[in-house]
Amino acid sequence: MKKFSFFLLLLTLILIVVACGPESGQTQQEGGDKADEENGESGGGNGGGAYLVGIDTTYPPFEFQVGGEYTGIDIDIINAIAQSQDLDIELRPMDFVGIIPSLESGELDLAIAGMSITDERKEILDFSEPYFDAGLTLVVNAENTEVASLEDLEGRVVAVKNGTTGSKFARENQEEYGYRIADFEDSPSMFLDVANGHADVLLEDYPVIAYAITKRDLKLKTVGERLTNDQYGIAVLKGQNGDLLEKVNAGLQELRDSGEYDEILKKYIDESGL
Ligand code: GLN
Repeated sequence: MKKFSFFLLLLTLILIVVACGPESGQTQQEGGDKADEENGESGGGNGGGAYLVGIDTTYPPFEFQVGGEYTGIDIDIINAIAQSQDLDIELRPMDFVGIIPSLESGELDLAIAGMSITDERKEILDFSEPYFDAGLTLVVNAENTEVASLEDLEGRVVAVKNGTTGSKFARENQEEYGYRIADFEDSPSMFLDVANGHADVLLEDYPVIAYAITKRDLKLKTVGERLTNDQYGIAVLKGQNGDLLEKVNAGLQELRDSGEYDEILKKYIDESGL
């Protein structure tokens, strides 16, 4: 008898655990059904009808948090698009490195994350029309007088953020310029590492580092010419979400036409002079 009730208890516990299961699994299941009904397309993990949008909230002025609220250029853009195109969206913050894999696995439907449009990414993602011009720059400690270009990097440590165009650039050019690479999960900790005199240099998108230096008074400065010219786009998984992407593009165009796009930019970057 004792044994039997123990077994029952165990069974109940197992049932509870299974029922409460990992959230992502649940979301995906519901999302899959909903996505099929609503869009006639398979894939896409939009739980409860909302499109799940991957964001990188460590990336001001594009995406950051103030008092628990997500804010920034990207956040305003995606919210305005959602409003004009009548899309229900839910923001999902994560490390940048997780965003593309989450689009691939269907945990995200969309991503807006200061994400550069690159040929390599275009093999797995479809991008909206570009919405911002960026490009990488070298950044050093404000007191550093020795590094002015890639040629000065031999034997030094270059900090980059996982999964980014900066990380890719550093790896592609490492052999030629002979530096070591230090990897970071987010931009603020990478900035601090160089500001505190650990790594010698970091690679970051110009608008992001310029904003950080102005706003946070970091002991950093940009050096040399911009190393790349790229543009930010909003991403969906390739070939899976054409209707959604069309709406995103229509929304972007409306924002540009109405002047709201310029208003959004002005709100965040006027004072930092980007
Ligand atoms: N623009 C860079 C990229 O796409 C960095 C993006 C980011 O760190 N959020 O890789």
